[in-house]
Amino acid sequence: MKEMLMYINNEWKEASNKEFINVKDPADQSVYGKIPRAGKEDVNQAVNAARRAFENPEWKKFKPHERGYILNKMAERIRRDKETLAQLETQDVGKPLSQSMADVEAAARYFEFYGGVADKIMGETIPVEDGILDFTVREPVGVTAHIVPWNYPIQIVSRSVAAAIAAGNTVVVKSAEDTPATAHCLAQFFEELNLIPGVFNLVTGYGKEAGAYLSGHPDINHVTFTGSVPTGIAVMKAAAENIVPVTLELGGKSPNIVFADCDQDAAMQGVVKSIIQNAGQTCSAGSRLLIERPIKDKFLEKVKDAFEKLLVGPGIEDTDIGPILSQSQFEKVMNYIEQAKTDGKMVAGGHRVEVNGNEGGFYIQPTIIDALDHSHPAAQEEIFGPVLTVFSFDQEEEAVRLANDTEYGLVTGVWSENINKAHRLADCIKSGQVFINNFGAGGGIQMPFGGFKKSGFGREKGLEALKNYTTVKNVAIKYK
Ligand code: NAD
Repeated sequence: MKEMLMYINNEWKEASNKEFINVKDPADQSVYGKIPRAGKEDVNQAVNAARRAFENPEWKKFKPHERGYILNKMAERIRRDKETLAQLETQDVGKPLSQSMADVEAAARYFEFYGGVADKIMGETIPVEDGILDFTVREPVGVTAHIVPWNYPIQIVSRSVAAAIAAGNTVVVKSAEDTPATAHCLAQFFEELNLIPGVFNLVTGYGKEAGAYLSGHPDINHVTFTGSVPTGIAVMKAAAENIVPVTLELGGKSPNIVFADCDQDAAMQGVVKSIIQNAGQTCSAGSRLLIERPIKDKFLEKVKDAFEKLLVGPGIEDTDIGPILSQSQFEKVMNYIEQAKTDGKMVAGGHRVEVNGNEGGFYIQPTIIDALDHSHPAAQEEIFGPVLTVFSFDQEEEAVRLANDTEYGLVTGVWSENINKAHRLADCIKSGQVFINNFGAGGGIQMPFGGFKKSGFGREKGLEALKNYTTVKNVAIKYK
């Protein structure tokens, strides 16, 4: 049984209550490890350690480019162990191995990207009047808290931790209770760097305990939360008690809009990949397909053919679609499917898949549902499974209306060879990212990522994320 302890103040720790939480492999639901169940006292220790590190003159003396070295070393270290990390990610999350490999490389690139940025975080000089020099300084906010979901653990820990440290903050990460393994490895890599105690801290445990204590802790200065809408609301309320700013990266119900004038093969591949990745357990999954009516039947046939060729099975065998994380997630997905069987029309899939040798795992056929009303829960809510709902439209305006007709606004794909039309859509779409003739653009480490509406606010990734982790001070000097 693999024991993954917490890392607080440069020491490996059990929880004060000595309790552990079991961790399962979604491939067959076998228990393979355990993590400490942190309580208030443990979270306190982690925040206090991060605070001491932040106030430590040695950390303040760290030059920006030296913080960059730390982050670049992390990138190197991640790449050195990439196979092991990918295997752990697959064991934890269930995703196909090649997807885990891509996630590990993305994690290394976040450290590298922010490593390069650390000594380029600059203020401005502002013209005021003769005899006054006015300038701004971008200072680190202090202790930043990072609460991470289970579906992309190594990427999500890396993207915000790297940006926070680049800006000179000290951090406390709360990993997801279902998928803690790669965050634990990152803590081991930080340990090897022998930094002053408390720069990087990792706590583990349940969201309602460790997560809630961390987000409501009076001595943190920022919370980056990635997860579901209801938890995002709880985090925001807890942080509000202390006037602590939050960045919320929440869910999505992202559409792919396919026009008759697009390259249909490219669009088909984009549509399929965007919904089957990580078995649809992706915030930015392309879970709605809007097709221009004249090509609907032909295009849907292509997607159906592609779906029927996909291999469902354990991620370690690098199948196309791995298991659903847990029984409760599986039941949630199947409820949507069963409801849609009555209210719509099944075009493909719709059933559980029994995988020989992995009977305990929860696998679902890639599923296409047509003929639902757009107000149906399966069309409006985040299903978090390999389930695509399909709609058609006649006019460009109707496509825009449908695309914007959910509470979410994370990502939109537009497929058309008409550049004017594509630009018009990009103008009218209410989502944080719009992809034209692609969906994801290779991971997009450099691109600001975040939501409109209930998909959240604030932006991760790219230079934009530095705004979360810095605060602006204005200095005005009067001279004679
Ligand atoms: P979740 O909200 O259940 O949990 C996310 C994290 O919050 C976990 O670490 C959990 O322990 C913690 N948590 C739970 N209750 C808490 C509380 N009361 N206070 C503080 N922390 C608490 O989400 P999940 O099921 O782990 O992840 C899936 C969700 O995450 C989906 O909605 C998905 O769309 C979203 N997501 C968003 C992005 C993005 O970047 N926009 C990326 C990945 C996942």
